[in-house]
Amino acid sequence: MTMIADNLHAVRTRIAQACTAAGRPVDAVQLLAVSKTFGPDAVQQAFDAGQRAFGENYIQEAVEKITALAALPIEWHCIGPIQSNKTRLVAAHFQWAHTVDRLKIAQRLSEQRPAHLPPLQVCVQVNVDGGPTKSGVVPAEALALARAVAQLPRLRLRGLMCIPEPAPDLVAACAVFTRARGLFDALNAAGLVLDTLSMGMSADVDAAVASGSTQVRVGSAIFGTRSYPAAI
Ligand SMILES: *Cc1c(COP(=O)(O)O)cnc(C)c1O
Repeated sequence: MTMIADNLHAVRTRIAQACTAAGRPVDAVQLLAVSKTFGPDAVQQAFDAGQRAFGENYIQEAVEKITALAALPIEWHCIGPIQSNKTRLVAAHFQWAHTVDRLKIAQRLSEQRPAHLPPLQVCVQVNVDGGPTKSGVVPAEALALARAVAQLPRLRLRGLMCIPEPAPDLVAACAVFTRARGLFDALNAAGLVLDTLSMGMSADVDAAVASGSTQVRVGSAIFGTRSYPAAI
C-alpha cells in the first residue's frame, strides 16, 4: 500500500471508531479527502484506495486537477472561498460548493450552472464561533439565507458547513460543533430538508463526529503536510 492508502485507511478507522463511541452507525459520516496543494498523482492514489469525494480550496488549481482527472468518476467539492469572479468556474466544474455565505454568490452559481448538469449541491457556510476574520453567515441569519438558497432553481441545498477556530481541547471543540449541530437541527425543524453537516478536519475529526457531523473534510492526515497553507 502507498502512504496515502495507509493514511486513508487510518482515517476511515478513526471515523468509524468515533462513530461507534458516539453510538452512531459507522457509515453516518462521509469522508471528504481535501487534496488542495497536492497534484493529480496524489488524488489518483487516494482514488485507487477507494476514495471518491475530494475537496479543493483554490478554484484555479482545482479546475486544472479536475480537467486532468476528468476520466475518473470523482465527486468534487469546492470548500474554499468563492469570489464573484469565480462562480462561473465553480458552477461548471464542481458537484458541490460548501462555502455559500451570501445570496449574491448563490444566485450567480444558480444562474451559471450549465443546463446539461444536475443542480449544484450546496451548503451554507456558518460562522459558528464568531471568529472575526471568518467567512460564513452569522447563525442568526442562517435560516433566512438557507431558505433563499433553497428557492434557487439550479442549486440543491444540502446543509451547513463550518470551520471553527482550532479549539484548545476536546471539550471546547465539542461545544462549538454541538452549537453547529443545534443550528442544523433547528433549520430542519423549521422546514428545511438538510442532510449534510460538513464539519471536522484532521485535528478535530473526533470532536466533530461526536457532535453530529455528517461529513468531515480531511487533508493533511491523508496527504501529509502541505507546503503552503490553506487560504480560508
Ligand atoms: C484545508 C481544509 C481542510 C482540511 O484541513 P486538514 O487540517 O489538512 O485536514 C478542511 N476544510 C477546509 C475548509 C480547508 O480549507
